Amino acid sequence: MQTVALDVAAVRRDFPVLDQTVDGKPLVYLDSAASSQKPRQVIDAISRYYLHDHANVHRGVHELARRATEAYESSRERIARWLNAADAHEVVWTRGTSEALNLVAFSLGEGLGPNDEVVISEMEHHSNLVPWQLLSARKGVRLRYTGLTDDGRLDLDHLASLLGPRTRVVSLPHVSNALGTINPVQKIGALVRGRSDAVFILDGAQGAPHLPLDVQALGCDIYAFSGHKMCGPTGIGGLWGRRALLDEMPPYQGGGEMIERVFHEYSTWAEVPHKFEAGTPNIAGTVGLAAAVDYLEDVGLDAIHQHEMALTRRAVSLLSEVDGIRILGPTDLDDRAGVVPFVLEGTSAQDVATILDAQGIAVRAGHHCAQLVVDRFELSATVRASFYLYNSTEEVKRLVAGVETARRLLLP
Ligand code: PMP
Repeated sequence: MQTVALDVAAVRRDFPVLDQTVDGKPLVYLDSAASSQKPRQVIDAISRYYLHDHANVHRGVHELARRATEAYESSRERIARWLNAADAHEVVWTRGTSEALNLVAFSLGEGLGPNDEVVISEMEHHSNLVPWQLLSARKGVRLRYTGLTDDGRLDLDHLASLLGPRTRVVSLPHVSNALGTINPVQKIGALVRGRSDAVFILDGAQGAPHLPLDVQALGCDIYAFSGHKMCGPTGIGGLWGRRALLDEMPPYQGGGEMIERVFHEYSTWAEVPHKFEAGTPNIAGTVGLAAAVDYLEDVGLDAIHQHEMALTRRAVSLLSEVDGIRILGPTDLDDRAGVVPFVLEGTSAQDVATILDAQGIAVRAGHHCAQLVVDRFELSATVRASFYLYNSTEEVKRLVAGVETARRLLLP
């Protein structure tokens, strides 16, 4: 891979929030897997929209309604270009990945019953697990779990053994939020297609912010993402789906904007994607997310990915030298995104995170909404440091020094 440089100092100037101290120490924000910070360009785009253009979309004939509709639909086109979707109608706005996956589980689930199987994995964020459990309770669909290898990868032999004529859905993470694993999704897509007629869904919450994407090349049928993890605002995200599949799927919620014609006994549906977008949408959110994609592409997704990989290599190598540390996830760092989960033997993850916080270092401690992952590794929680384009090597060193301090304070 060609090396592309990223100017961290210049990037950091775009993120005013990073320029502050916590208890007198410079903030080190290592919690971007939970939510990223926002550049000025995104904040300004949202502000411009509210200062000049806001009205409700689609219904009005007046100037502001036209501008708001144009902003909303051109943001969809921007997202379609970023994803390399064949058609902007294949992009459905939702509140984020959770809502996208709930939509899909509900809608695809309408046609499923007790003879059908949904395959997920023990690597899931609860957003790609609980909606399928709800479906299972509603329709009797059988839920099957792909196991994990000891170094935190999907066990592909196990996955292959679960696939068959009854498999109607396979839904897996592109990148694991709890382990950092980048899953070989093209290979998995080929496996799924070779052994079943299942719809192949990717939870892209941790893939979309960090990797160059081409949904047509990935080999999935549906890809879900969240704006707030990729420098965009909260409350906006979406899904990409193959048009023919979206056309077949029934609506998820009813209301304004999603109908074609309403009668006393029944209604007919608007075209995709409006069929799935009941009610007044988060218009400003779509504007902010389109600005976030502009920003990420200006910096360069290859450069961002390489920068995160360099930080991860540094972090794993330095943390490995701390006595009693156990780092989870793939040992081959090429298969790992900028997420470093670890435990310090004899300490609680919560205590380590609290001591890091006292030094201005923001990390997360817990099961990271992936309880089956911590169960699989016989833990109750991990500390998770996660990197993004604005993090520096200096911050990695601060993290490692902070963990050394936690070790000294917690272990006599
Ligand atoms: N899937 C994964 C892998 C995630 O990391 C997250 C967020 N932590 C989600 C789904 C849910 O995303 P959201 O909360 O934005 O809906």
